[in-house]
Amino acid sequence: MKAVELSKSIEGLTGALQGRVCLPGQKNYDELRTPWLRVINQHPALIVEATSVSDIAAAVRFARNHSLPLGVMSTGHGIVAACDNGLLLRLTQMKRIEINSQTNSARLEPGVTSGEMLKLTEAEGWVYAAGQVSNVGVIGYTLGGGMGWLVRKLGAACEAVQSVEVVLADGSVVTASAQENADLFWAVRGGGGNFGIVASLELNLVPIKTIVGGEAWYSLSSARDVMRYYRDWSADLPEDTSTVLRLMAVEPNADLPDQLRGKTACAIGICHANPETADAMLKPLFSHHPPLVNNIKARQLSEMAQFDKASHLPGAPTYGHVEFLKSLSNEVIDKLVAVAEHSIPPLMQIEVQQLGGALQHSNAGQCAFAPSAAPYLLHLVTPVTPKTTLEDVAKATQKAFADLGDVYTGEANYNFLRGDEQFRVPKAFGEEKYKRLREIKRRFDSENLFHLNLNIAL
Ligand SMILES: Cc1cc2nc3c(=O)[nH]c(=O)nc-3n(C[C@H](O)[C@H](O)[C@H](O)COP(=O)(O)OP(=O)(O)OC[C@H]3O[C@@H](n4cnc5c(N)ncnc54)[C@H](O)[C@@H]3O)c2cc1C
Repeated sequence: MKAVELSKSIEGLTGALQGRVCLPGQKNYDELRTPWLRVINQHPALIVEATSVSDIAAAVRFARNHSLPLGVMSTGHGIVAACDNGLLLRLTQMKRIEINSQTNSARLEPGVTSGEMLKLTEAEGWVYAAGQVSNVGVIGYTLGGGMGWLVRKLGAACEAVQSVEVVLADGSVVTASAQENADLFWAVRGGGGNFGIVASLELNLVPIKTIVGGEAWYSLSSARDVMRYYRDWSADLPEDTSTVLRLMAVEPNADLPDQLRGKTACAIGICHANPETADAMLKPLFSHHPPLVNNIKARQLSEMAQFDKASHLPGAPTYGHVEFLKSLSNEVIDKLVAVAEHSIPPLMQIEVQQLGGALQHSNAGQCAFAPSAAPYLLHLVTPVTPKTTLEDVAKATQKAFADLGDVYTGEANYNFLRGDEQFRVPKAFGEEKYKRLREIKRRFDSENLFHLNLNIAL
């Protein structure tokens, strides 16, 4: 289509929207096209900032009628493909949340972040299976599975979805739930944005007023012993307890003792859902390995977001890689500590997230999300600094992963795949689920309009 015709059509679209259109050269264009995680540099022909489901439907129809690539951005933490010369649909302004205390659930829109959601639900004594970081969108996180601080207690976030309102590739709006469009409902819970655009979602809430959580800090020189003990101790923990072990650089001005400030150190993060049993659960760890600093205490789940330092870097591109670990053997521990000794910085954070618990229940994964039986998820996050490029940090991260050897299960975590890992998408689901996802994709998006994502192949 000629540029003149397109700009005439854009005028028509603008008139039909409750939200707005932003074009190249206009104020805020650069800000609006840039995802929170700055690994994608995209130049859309137009940006639609939707404020309602009818805006989303109008944008979908417009992209389709004008054969424009369609990009979808809720809060921009997982953009994996550039929307160049296409229509970028931003959902950031869609921030309505309604709590229904009759059904113990919340209906929310895609611009709602985890911090915003918890702020409202916690005031009523409720939480959801929130991710580790407060500024990630609840819907984007949930559509890809969603494993957060209470993963061993509550399983993946997508398992608590009650219903979704979806704009399909033809611009129609449907509801999907166990009763209605059950295949679509199955697919969106884990299969990401492949089937339509989720304009709102209803999520079951859980009554947890207070958790016991925080970090126990150790020096890097004791990390090998601490990690061995952590592995054995955490293996017997109840589902109420979720844990994360991190090796990371402590900032020089951090509010921590001299032994840790400006050094690489080891932290065990704890999130325990039952304050009455927390002391007994922690006692063995603290008596065998008294921490240098212990800030584990009764608090609200939302406060746990402060402990993921790697996520407080808006503006800095970061390179992440994630694998499921077969085990945390002595050899793996020694190699991880060696990486920490030699590569932090620039490698900023090594994270070992404990899995198991609720993920292994027989009713877990009754949707596209496929829970892994692996005991741990290994995550390296490396920021680009003024002295490094994305290429440098990618190389260093990949080398660290390769050096560990044959210690991964080969499965993939959909939420953490990068754009250059499209070939691993089937590994997030296993053969049977992936086959069903492809069938559903062919039914609901036969032309792959929703392709600027971690794509389910037609
Ligand atoms: C700092 C950080 C911390 C994270 N922590 C966790 C964690 O603890 N656990 C975890 O499991 N994951 C985590 N993630 C991964 C995160 O859950 C995914 O990247 C997720 O997609 C981000 O949601 P978003 O709203 O930012 O998505 P966006 O980046 O806005 O969108 C990414 C893609 O998701 C799809 N999508 C988003 N919204 C919709 C919608 N409304 N309808 C249809 N499709 C949509 C689209 O395909 C879109 O291209 C983290 C990521 C970062 C950067």
